[in-house]
Amino acid sequence: MTKLVLATGNAGKLKELQALLADTGVEVLSQKLFDVPDADETGLSFVENAILKARHAAQLTGLPALADDSGLVVDALLGAPGIYSARYAADPLTGAPAGDAANNAKLLDALAALPANTPRTARFVCVLAFVRHADDPLPVLCQAVWEGEIAHALSGEGGFGYDPLFMVPGEGMTSAELSRERKAQLSHRGRALQQLKARWGETGL
Ligand code: IMP
Repeated sequence: MTKLVLATGNAGKLKELQALLADTGVEVLSQKLFDVPDADETGLSFVENAILKARHAAQLTGLPALADDSGLVVDALLGAPGIYSARYAADPLTGAPAGDAANNAKLLDALAALPANTPRTARFVCVLAFVRHADDPLPVLCQAVWEGEIAHALSGEGGFGYDPLFMVPGEGMTSAELSRERKAQLSHRGRALQQLKARWGETGL
């Protein structure tokens, strides 16, 4: 069976991507199986970082690689946490990520510091980058955004990351309260993956 390495160490993303790729007929392997360390995300955009991560995993495994660079863009915070979403509440000295709970607390604090009528509009962004090999000059790129609002308090146990704070318009609940199937239909990652599947022929897999 053809193999594809998923260039992420994030357990939440891995779970979602593996479920979404289950019907592609390729063997989807986590980069953790190959002890691939996290890539240095030195880009200034989701697309740059997605390509960096995909090349890094392809280089170290010799396999075609798919990376997801994603995050939450909050209008009132001028786009923060953005590409720094995973590290939003990181220790400023060591850079060690502080985890989902600390990130969510920091986001609530940042919005609480603004005037009460400040719009809480936000969007999740996902860029997927597929490379056939480490030096692939033509990565397959797919991206999608998911519009929503930041809630005033956490609710829901599903998903990961900022899901308990992301109110989904039309659903009356946060993305952490949606079923896994519903999140896959609506979300930035689910819809970017649908695009990739529609373009699967370009991957050569
Ligand atoms: P990355 O690994 O650098 O792409 O960071 C992605 C970060 O964005 C995650 O660690 C989460 O904090 C956040 N994020 C991305 N997608 C989602 C999602 O579907 N739900 C909640 N948080 C997400």
